[in-house]
Amino acid sequence: MRRENDSRKRKKKQCDFCKNKKAKIDYKNVDMLKRYLSDKGKISPARVTGACAKHQRALTQAIKRARNIALLPYTVEN
Ligand SMILES: [Zn+2]
Repeated sequence: MRRENDSRKRKKKQCDFCKNKKAKIDYKNVDMLKRYLSDKGKISPARVTGACAKHQRALTQAIKRARNIALLPYTVEN
């Protein structure tokens, strides 16, 4: 549900990866992937990351891969 409707000045929100063609989604790039994790270590949803469906999917895959080889945690313990 959308509470704030800014349809008058609709900014085209492009995802970081569409915008920046050089930015590659790489599971070894932990620093980049971490930006898409919440403080609990969960993958942030697309509406938070601003990524498009295609890249959100790629991100999710990369994060899962990174977790698999212990580059990223599954959860963050406090
Ligand atoms: Zn994209």
